[in-house]
Amino acid sequence: MGRSAQRPPNLAPMIAVVVVRGGALPSGGDETVAECGGRAIVVGSGTALAVEALAGIATELTLLELEHFQPAAWAAALQPLVQHEPAVVMPGSPDGRDLAPRLASLLHRPLFAGAVTVTAHRVELARKGGTEIHIANPGPEFVATLQPGVRGVVPAASWPAVVVTHAEVPLRASGPAVDAAVLAVLPPDPATIDLAEAPRIVGGGAGLDRPERMEQLSRIGGHLGASMGATRVITDRGWVPHERQIGTTGVVVDPRLYVAFGVSGAVQHTSGLGNPDHIISVNTDGHCPMMQLADLAIVSDANATLDHLERLLADESLA
Ligand SMILES: Cc1cc2nc3c(=O)[nH]c(=O)nc-3n(C[C@H](O)[C@H](O)[C@H](O)COP(=O)(O)OP(=O)(O)OC[C@H]3O[C@@H](n4cnc5c(N)ncnc54)[C@H](O)[C@@H]3O)c2cc1C
Repeated sequence: MGRSAQRPPNLAPMIAVVVVRGGALPSGGDETVAECGGRAIVVGSGTALAVEALAGIATELTLLELEHFQPAAWAAALQPLVQHEPAVVMPGSPDGRDLAPRLASLLHRPLFAGAVTVTAHRVELARKGGTEIHIANPGPEFVATLQPGVRGVVPAASWPAVVVTHAEVPLRASGPAVDAAVLAVLPPDPATIDLAEAPRIVGGGAGLDRPERMEQLSRIGGHLGASMGATRVITDRGWVPHERQIGTTGVVVDPRLYVAFGVSGAVQHTSGLGNPDHIISVNTDGHCPMMQLADLAIVSDANATLDHLERLLADESLA
């Protein structure tokens, strides 16, 4: 459950900077705007669409329409817009993580990366895989990134009209830092995409009988356009790297579809799951929490189901 979009009125103002592509908010974009009390600069392509996505969360939005993400040039364009803002917060999404250090450097400010909460006077940072929280006094001016998924946000049902302004800042052809030339933008490969960004995930748990099952799960995920994730039991066994672990001490995800194979649904796992539109669970225990959460709960041996599914998908691709 996320926290309310409303912010106590006595806190000093902060501003969010959120990069959008084609109007789509990155993971954690809405949470960052909420953490900043509704004030944000939305930069990128299709910024007008983002205004709708931030209904019930944003109060004041500045839209800066720019094409083709270039973190160095965009940081230079954003500098005059945020230089009088003491606290600038970005989502810890791939674009946010790319932009934040460049902006911090241009502004000559410290960067607090991977925060779980941010106020103008205090930043809490998750460290050592989320097992330690470090509290920092950020000083008067700083830049921070907020970890997607840790705050949550509940848009308010009744909300004042959003004040929207349009900024126009020319992109400088050259600056102190140079952007890499983009040769091509490839569609994401489900096998390597950052789990936090994956729209579909197939997850494996301790119900799987051997390490090779995780490769099988990846192959099946490939057919379904889904990325492979796992529970901590699986990553602790070394069957897949930690970056594939879903949960409070792993990656916080927010897929539209989650298919769980042999996953019990412990709270440390499900609290990192976001709000999938659809959950399918395959488990021999029809009463475990993952089955209770599922839209489609299949009481079956997950290993036999994977074998069967792989055969069906192979037949389909041959047909
Ligand atoms: C501080 C802390 C942080 C943690 N962080 C995380 C985290 O980030 N992510 C995370 O995932 N966990 C985390 N955990 C661990 C978490 O508490 C659970 O232990 C873990 O999620 C359980 O993983 P699992 O579902 O794979 O295994 P289990 O809980 O052992 O469940 C296995 C499931 O498989 C089913 N099963 C067994 N055989 C079959 C079969 N043949 N076919 C189908 N189903 C079968 C069982 O019915 C059961 O539901 C954390 C724990 C602590 C203490």
